[in-house]
Amino acid sequence: MSNELKAVFEDISCKKKFNEPMRNYASFRIGGNADLLIFPEDTDDLRNILYICRDKKIPLFILGFGTNLLIKDGGIRGVVISLNKGFREIRITDDEMITAGAGAGLQTLVSFALKNGLSGMEFAVGIPGSVGGALIMNAGTRDGEMKDIVKSVKIMTDDGEVKVIKREDIGFSYRHSDFQSGSVVLEADVILRRGNSRDIKKKMKSLIADRKSKQPLSSYSAGSVFKNPSNDFAGRLIESAGLKGFSVGDAVVSEMHTNFIVNRGNATAGDVLKLIEIVKERVFTKIGISLEEEIKIVGEE
Ligand SMILES: Cc1cc2nc3c(=O)[nH]c(=O)nc-3n(C[C@H](O)[C@H](O)[C@H](O)COP(=O)(O)OP(=O)(O)OC[C@H]3O[C@@H](n4cnc5c(N)ncnc54)[C@H](O)[C@@H]3O)c2cc1C
Repeated sequence: MSNELKAVFEDISCKKKFNEPMRNYASFRIGGNADLLIFPEDTDDLRNILYICRDKKIPLFILGFGTNLLIKDGGIRGVVISLNKGFREIRITDDEMITAGAGAGLQTLVSFALKNGLSGMEFAVGIPGSVGGALIMNAGTRDGEMKDIVKSVKIMTDDGEVKVIKREDIGFSYRHSDFQSGSVVLEADVILRRGNSRDIKKKMKSLIADRKSKQPLSSYSAGSVFKNPSNDFAGRLIESAGLKGFSVGDAVVSEMHTNFIVNRGNATAGDVLKLIEIVKERVFTKIGISLEEEIKIVGEE
């Protein structure tokens, strides 16, 4: 498909990569090639890309920083859009409000809030990924989630219309949002409150230390693989089912955090998918609870 796309996207001047290995854009370091990875720099570029995809019926996937993705070994057909080259601006737009572009890093936003003495983003320290990905996933920890600080989100619909959606209309829930499929998140307004920079920093330091002591941060992974069932922890259930350290190929249930699957180096998406099925089946058989994936599984076998 890459050759057909070369002709179709010839007139779009932003950066394009054809037949691009997606493993280079995913924290799991797993994934086949995308037919076209494209980097719009502004809303005009983005709208033109969306129009072409709609008119030519080309499938479309929006990539954040790839920290919550398992991209299958056959890669992604059609167009993958990254907002990483534009859409990165972070600015103060009101006394206690920050407007952040979807292509900015969540940690850049966290640091910006700290630098400006604004409190409320501490929960997000150490969560990798982009602002856009964090909004789609309603990223968070038990200390808070994106839904607690978002005032509104600007999106572009699949037919190029820019809309602002208020928090209450986004349908945020645990690691979930209800943005219309095909919409691209462009930026968000987040409401924080004046705080003391020293206290904010202290809280962040302690959260980072906690994360380092519990998560295999030097390994390739996509974070927690499963959602926590209500009133329990997926990691605890997986450990109870005797699966700590269990592996398929180079995909391993982490010894350090049993809700993480880590790629020891050469794991394929096929290995991870097999391991996910085994974990789900054993937890269900032994404990009677069905685990649901938190990571997004995308692409072709
Ligand atoms: C070591 C580690 C620790 C983690 N810890 C946490 C944690 O504590 N809490 C937590 O919630 N998560 C955690 N995660 C998971 C992950 O970091 C979050 O889900 C993160 O918010 C994903 O952001 P991303 O930019 O990488 O999104 P991606 O993984 O690239 O994409 C995730 C989804 O968002 C969509 N998307 C991304 N950007 C846009 C956009 N602009 N418009 C429309 N759709 C878009 C994608 O299509 C995809 O469906 C962790 C991951 C790792 C590797």
